Amino acid sequence: MQKKRVFVTQSIPREGVDLLRRSFAVQVRSKHTVIPAKELRTAVKNADALLCTLEDPIDASIMDAGTRLRVISNFAVGVDNIDVAAATERGIVVTNTPGVLDEAVAEHTLALLLAVARRIVEADKFTRAHKYKAWMPLGFLGPELKGKTIGVIGAGRIGTTVAKAAHHGMGMNVLYTDIAKNTQIEKEAKAKYVSLKSLLQHADVVTVHVPLLPSTRHLIGAPQLRLMKKTAILINTSRGPVVAEKPLVRALQQRKLRGAGLDVYECEPYVDCDPTDRLDLTKLDSVVLTPHIASATEEARAAMSRLAAEGVRDTLLNKKPKNVVNPKVWSKRKNQND
Ligand code: NAD
Repeated sequence: MQKKRVFVTQSIPREGVDLLRRSFAVQVRSKHTVIPAKELRTAVKNADALLCTLEDPIDASIMDAGTRLRVISNFAVGVDNIDVAAATERGIVVTNTPGVLDEAVAEHTLALLLAVARRIVEADKFTRAHKYKAWMPLGFLGPELKGKTIGVIGAGRIGTTVAKAAHHGMGMNVLYTDIAKNTQIEKEAKAKYVSLKSLLQHADVVTVHVPLLPSTRHLIGAPQLRLMKKTAILINTSRGPVVAEKPLVRALQQRKLRGAGLDVYECEPYVDCDPTDRLDLTKLDSVVLTPHIASATEEARAAMSRLAAEGVRDTLLNKKPKNVVNPKVWSKRKNQND
């Protein structure tokens, strides 16, 4: 019998590829660029499974080109790059990789926070430029974080991990907001549930951990930024469009916000949506920018690779995968097979 075919849009850690190669014919595209839609439509023509990354837009046209597709496995937690409704309509299972990168993303969130608060990137540039001539009692001052308040927006797996680390590791007080209360964050980080408005008004650090949904697009826009303290720091390691870029840059330029640490961008992979305007994040010393690497620990990426591959393997072997984003499709398939 011919082996089932899996197409992988980019090189991923070997753990997942090795696992897939044990049972399937696997083709891995080796270019480190977003695959053009035309190339992807051709590549999925004979594929039974697609393993993609968060920058590959998987719309109905890709699914219609891949008439044999039974599963789309996203090498990410967020599935905002996939038209999940279209996949569900077509009976295609969608899987993702939650739960194995919480520590990695939380550590990166705190790395950005410390880098912004203690002006690490600015000070690094200064030192490399041989500008350090004498110890400066007034040089590179920033806020101490112990005893300050961190506001967590979205108290899921990652938000809760950040809250625990900030509370136990750095002595910060925690406020949180979510569409539902979370007893775990209250118990394990002594967090207090408040409205978004109250969180923005009272937090010294605001950190965003919601998925990108129609309801969370521009959750932090001009009106929300106006509520924040002038001395506050905003960290976003969730998805770029959750924070409106232009009002954020304006607030930073006008010093209505102390600083920001960003791993994700509204028009990703572009850092600026409009390079011709004067709202350029890269010109600001008060921001620290990283290229969507919050989950980039060796441990997390290996685990994501394994989990994404298991999503493919289990679906193709008719076993329910651990993380199905559209469980309705799975139950329907199961009933058809019974
Ligand atoms: P999760 O589902 O465990 O948590 C998300 C939380 O957001 C949930 O508690 C949910 O109730 C809450 N939420 C949803 N809508 C909300 C709203 N309107 N207001 C307030 N809260 C709301 O997800 P997670 O595993 O913690 O991941 C969170 C997000 O982080 C992912 O969806 C993904 O987009 C992003 N992420 C980014 C990276 C990165 O590399 N930068 C890595 C992993 C995940």
